[in-house]
Parts: sequence; structure tokens; C-alpha cells
Amino acid sequence: MSDIEIAQQAKMQPIIGLAHQHYGIAAEHLDPIGHYKAKISLEYINSLTDRTDGKLILVTAISPTPAGEGKTTTTVGLGDAMNRIGKKTIMCLREPSLGPCFGVKGGAAGGGYAQVVPMEDINLHFTGDFHAIGVAHNLLSALIDNHINHGNALDIDPRRIQWKRVVDMNDRALRHIVVGMGGAANGYLREDGYDIVVASEVMAILCLATSRADLKARLGRIVIGYKSDRTTPVYARDLKAHGAMAALLKDAIKPNLVQTLENNIAIIHGGPFANIAHGCNTVTATKTALKLADYVVTEAGFGADLGAEKFIDIKCRMSGLKPAAVVLVATVRALKFHGGVAKDALNQENLIALQQGFANLARHYHNITQHYGLPCVVCINHFTFDTEAEIALLQNQCAALGAACVVSKHWAEGGAGAESLAVAITEIVDNREPAFTFVYDADLGLWEKIEAIATKLYGAANVTANAKVKAQLAAWQADYGTFPICMAKTQMSFSTNPNSKGAPSGHTVEISDVRLANGAGFIVAIAGDMMTMPGLPKVPAAERIDIDDDGRITGLF
Ligand code: ADP
Ligand code: MG
Repeated sequence: MSDIEIAQQAKMQPIIGLAHQHYGIAAEHLDPIGHYKAKISLEYINSLTDRTDGKLILVTAISPTPAGEGKTTTTVGLGDAMNRIGKKTIMCLREPSLGPCFGVKGGAAGGGYAQVVPMEDINLHFTGDFHAIGVAHNLLSALIDNHINHGNALDIDPRRIQWKRVVDMNDRALRHIVVGMGGAANGYLREDGYDIVVASEVMAILCLATSRADLKARLGRIVIGYKSDRTTPVYARDLKAHGAMAALLKDAIKPNLVQTLENNIAIIHGGPFANIAHGCNTVTATKTALKLADYVVTEAGFGADLGAEKFIDIKCRMSGLKPAAVVLVATVRALKFHGGVAKDALNQENLIALQQGFANLARHYHNITQHYGLPCVVCINHFTFDTEAEIALLQNQCAALGAACVVSKHWAEGGAGAESLAVAITEIVDNREPAFTFVYDADLGLWEKIEAIATKLYGAANVTANAKVKAQLAAWQADYGTFPICMAKTQMSFSTNPNSKGAPSGHTVEISDVRLANGAGFIVAIAGDMMTMPGLPKVPAAERIDIDDDGRITGLF
């Protein structure tokens, strides 16, 4: 059965009743959207301040192959399994973006018997948060061009505007556009472009904001470009944009409650890109879940070199969150891919490739335990094609590394298939005070922070950049020197070359560009070509998606 067929057979319970039954949340604190989705009020969340926090478990993965290796699926399966063994657990996930839904990767609501539902709603529009974020972003874009049209009192240099427009679709034709065509009545002609909504700084801001006031202040701090002196920044607050932007985000700021196939509570809220942004659900969602449940399982995007690093160095640093343990998801398929097997031969047994590809897992495990200072359980996300010999080899390799390793069958069996993973992880977090280490100190220089990430985690020998990039970082050092770095690098490799598989080392990381995300509070360092507006493939998933006369959707995955 396909993911969507399984999801459509789910016996969902009205979310209001479920939230009350599991966590005693009174109906008045929830804004229901239909019967199976609800937003939690900020007033209610604020009333939980005095409660003690549950334990936070981070799910990350080895360097992914194009299909995704099952972090979301494992997050849901592990959460269901923990509830099965009597541990009250909430899962926190990111909201899916429409672009990948219609492209190659598909949705992001888990898979098999480890899914969040209603799957179609979660993948398509959900509660409208992304729409609101896109509109808030584009309001600022419109205000910029309008300001220039009406005389440009702020002296904005139209050639140095860095605030683009956004839409939640993979649409490569919009990457570079010209606005203001058609003569004087339509403003000034200038080059512009679109990013996908998940790449918007408004998304990153919403995900890091801790209150409406903090949201508004961060929106006001956005640097949209520079004045004609080339150096004086122009802020969104100079355009008086932040109040209206925050008003548009009135409901988007509230976390969304849904349920899993096994009727456990999940919170799905926010979904920043894991390359030019930090790739984790909102701080509000994670903090709320920690107040409600004894355990929270959450996912960070891409592999442990990107999503998990940003989870630690950006999200936890800014919010004070403290993870207790990490689950490192690996698949036999992906490890064979790292061992050099072609994409279409991954379902055949290949012990030699598996052994070679293991280097990728070993590096990630080393980084998590040594550089993030966190205990780690390797989860082998079981695929039906995996052979017994492959599983045995992988377990032996983990044992040689000293890594706890559990085979998990949540995709095929739901929570029941992940009970051993749940036992392994709760044994760790129940017997350990949450403690971890950052990869770099906040007061290290910006350039040195980039070097720390690249040499410690990526195995790079050195980091290079042209004079312009170095000068820009030096100029930012005084005002933004304490900001963390948000590395934008391919997720496919520890190096900046997506085809360099396994665990390359001794390479050079070249920083081609740096961007200030002043509202989010980090500096993006771009290594290699970074796509902020993806395109659709030759045969987009959209071609298979349909709806019948009864309103039943097919083809989503
Ligand atoms: P990630 O969060 O790492 O990107 P997902 O959990 O979204 O990955 O999974 C990506 C895709 O792989 C989904 O379509 C899911 O159904 C599928 N998948 C995950 N685990 C398995 C498994 N064990 N067997 C078969 N398919 C799986
Ligand atoms: Mg995912």
C-alpha cells in the first residue's frame, strides 16, 4: 500500500478530544481548523512556564541520498513506540513545502505506518502558515519598490536590494526577473528574483522567535539592502513594515497540533530550508512540547553535518534548549550509495560497497559524540530489500565503532516496530542530565567559526574565500561578531562537491558568498552553488497527483 493509502485508512480522532485526553489541554486553548488540526494559543503556552521540561531527543541522519533516508518517518515511528512503552512523548516536525511535494522528493509527513495525519492537508497548504509567511515577505518587497517609486526618501540603492520575492513552488523561471517594466507609472526598472518560501528570512525568524514582541523586533531588524553610500544598511523598520508583517503572522506564530496514525500528538510548525536557513521546526513548538510531554522527539533537516549542527549551534544556542540524546538514522541503501553503488542498483546486496560507505556513518557518529558531546544511537531504518548479511555487517561495524545500533521496522510495522529503539533511547536519556557542547564559542571571530565547522565536522584541511568575502566578514565583525554561522553546503557530501561520497577529508571549503540574516540573527556562509529556488524535474510528481469526484486525493507520497 502507498503512503497515502495507509494515511487515508487512519482512524483519526477529533484533535480537541485527543489533546485533552493526552495532555489535559482545555478546548478553549485550541483554535480548531476542521476536526483534525488545531492551533494552540500563545496565552496557554505562556501559562505553562513553571512546568519542568521533558527530555529532548534529536533525530538526524547520515548524508542523505536524493530520496531522503527516513528522518521524519523515524521521528514519528520512535514517538509512537515511546508512547507504546508508556513514555509520554510528543513529536515535533517541520511543515512540508509545496515545491518538493510536486517535485522529486514528495511530501514530508513520514512514510509507511509511521506517518502524521491528515497527510493530504499537512502536505498541501496545511493551516496556511506558509501562505502567511510568503505574504508577509512579499509585503516587505512591495513596500521597498513603492518607497523608491514615491521618491526614495531613504536613499535605497536599487542595485543593492537584497530582499527578493518568494513563492512556495519549485519554479526555476522565477530565479531572475525584472520588475517595474512598462514605463514610469510602474515604478523603477530593476533586477529581482524569487526564492522559495522556506528560504525566506521571515521563515527563519518565525522559527526562532520567542514571542510576538520578539517576532516583531526581529522582522524590524531585517536588512533589505543598502543606501547609495553602499555601507549604511536599510532595515525593514525604516520602511515601517514590521508591524504589518507581524499582523499577517498573527496565526502562523501559533503551533499546529495533529496526530500520528496511532493517535499520538505531534506538533508541526515552521519549515526553514536546511541550507541557507537552520532547518528545524519552531522554537515555540519544541518548547511547548517539552512543557506538555515527558519526552520530545524532533527532526533537523539534511544530515548531521548540517541540520544537527545548526540545531545545536543556532537553535539551541539562541533558545537555551538542551538536547539529551541523538538518533542517527542510516539505511543500508544510502550506505551502499556512499560506497559507490549507482542509484538504480541500491536494492541488490553489496557487502563491499556497504563496508566502504560506512565511513560516512562513522564520521557523523564521531561528530555527534565528540563535537556535539551527545550520546547517540544508530537507527538502521529497515527496508524490505535489506539482506540479513547486510544488516549483520552493519551491526558489526557499529559494534566495532562502539556505537549502539538498533534495527527499526517502524515503516512496516508502526510504533511496534520501533520499540527496541525506544527502549535504547529512553535508557540513555533517563540516566543522564542533558548536556552538550557547541562546535564553536559565540565570541570566536566569524571567519574562525566557519573554519571550526569545516575542519572539525567536514574534515576539511582549510577554508578559502576571495578578498570581497573576507572583507565583508571583517566589516560585520564589529556589529554582528557574536552571530552564529549558518553554513549553506550541499547535503550530499561532507565536502562541497555533491559527488564526493563517503567521508572525504583534506579538502578545501571555498566560501563563495556571505549573507547577513540580521532578523534571524545569523550569518549565512555559502559554500558552492546554493539553490534558493529549486526547479521541477523532467517528470514532476505533480503529474501523478489527482483528486476524484468524491474529493479523494491520489498520488501524493
Ligand atoms: P527524511 O525526513 O530523511 O527526508 P522521510 O522520512 O521523509 O525522509 O522519508 C523519505 C521517503 O522514504 C518517504 O517517502 C518514506 O515513505 C520513504 N521511507 C522511509 N523509510 C522507509 C523504509 N524503511 N522503507 C521504505 N520506504 C521508506
Ligand atoms: Mg524529513
